Amino acid sequence: SIRVRFAPSPTGMFHVGGARSALFNWVMARQSGGTLVLRIEDTDASRNKPEWTEGIIRALAWLGIDGDEYEGPYFQSANLEAHQEALRTILDQGRAYYCDCTREDVIARTGDSNKGYDGYCRDRDLGPGEGRAVRFRTPDEGQTTVVDLIRGKPTFENKVLEDFVIARSNGSVPFLLANVADDIAQGITHVVRGEEHLSNAPKQQLLWEALGHQAPVWAHVPVIVNEKRQKLSKRRDKVALEDYQAEGYLAAAMRNYLMLLGWAPSGDREVVPWEVIENEFRIEDVNASPAFFDVKKLRAINGDYIRMLSVEEFIAECLPFLEKAPFEVDMKVFVRLAELAQTRVAVLSEIVQMVDFAFLDEPAFDEASWTKAMKDPAAEILAAAEDAYRDAPWNAEELKTRLEQVGAGFGLKLGKAQAPVRVAVTGRTVGLPLFESLEVLGREATLARIAAARA
Ligand code: GLU
Repeated sequence: SIRVRFAPSPTGMFHVGGARSALFNWVMARQSGGTLVLRIEDTDASRNKPEWTEGIIRALAWLGIDGDEYEGPYFQSANLEAHQEALRTILDQGRAYYCDCTREDVIARTGDSNKGYDGYCRDRDLGPGEGRAVRFRTPDEGQTTVVDLIRGKPTFENKVLEDFVIARSNGSVPFLLANVADDIAQGITHVVRGEEHLSNAPKQQLLWEALGHQAPVWAHVPVIVNEKRQKLSKRRDKVALEDYQAEGYLAAAMRNYLMLLGWAPSGDREVVPWEVIENEFRIEDVNASPAFFDVKKLRAINGDYIRMLSVEEFIAECLPFLEKAPFEVDMKVFVRLAELAQTRVAVLSEIVQMVDFAFLDEPAFDEASWTKAMKDPAAEILAAAEDAYRDAPWNAEELKTRLEQVGAGFGLKLGKAQAPVRVAVTGRTVGLPLFESLEVLGREATLARIAAARA
């Protein structure tokens, strides 16, 4: 059975692209009764931090990939001996050589900083020594074809593959070889990872072969781009899974959406139960072209998932956001508003603004809403509404009827007539259904706010 792995480098917040790779690997393992290995590639001590590793593990668990779902975590830094052994094997076979060229030396010779290594030390027969790196001798002739489940059979001319470094001058083994040595040690059969590693695949396949192993099957999943078709980047775009979680995206929605980045379930649908995804996903069906990270679509999907919760679940999901709100929440009141809100929020953090009117002493002040709603004849409407509401039976139905009558007196439809009342009471032009909101807020506060707005 297959063994796949997710091998993040803990050098920053956990990225949505990493999460998508983890999910693809996870689904492949589950479908075939195979194993997902989690390997933390933590050998770059200057860029790693333990909290990034913890963040990855936490975020995976949030998505449903908890400790029972994978083997590990393994740490690349615990496998240094195996990296050195792989290096010795390759040196012993005469497939590598020592090199003392600096980057500047190479550029001085080739006149081009984008060109790779020029092979200067290939036949110099340098032995080990201070300041010497080790380079893998790539074949001069022939081609290296990698079997990629998404891209067919990308084929690389060996003569364009530079002789790449497999040991730095300080003796440490860099990514290309360390990653292969670990994959071999961990019995990996399928390497599913980001497209940015496609150019590494032929080099790594040569290493697999040099180490006496059959190369794995590869799958390089498409790059993720923003609405400007630029590669998603942490400086420009919101990429940290944790930020989406903090904003109130549900794990189930996120997981569903991430699976759509390069793949689509059958039928014309996007919101699909996880069982369907697990059943239908085929890595071979993943599209090679860039995947657009469409935040609008993600929001819509999240809203759909929020609608699928029971009211009790919805309330429970809202609690962490209400706890951080700048007001004290009366749960008896909140429960009455929750049902109204559940049909309207796209991300859970929006709940705070939607219900704040019921808990703040005075409604929030939103200048744009105020300017928009308080135009003539707003003052007269408010005065008439105050009169109409003073002795009204306090229920949404009646409050609506009375405001309709008020509006009619000004030749206005309800939608227009209710705008100043809404802003007076809630502070904003948009929000929960107005009359239900007034019913929950109560007569006293409603009348006081209308009066205050007129003043
Ligand atoms: N640590 C590498 C990365 O995060 C892993 C690449 C791979 O999956 O082989 O990009």
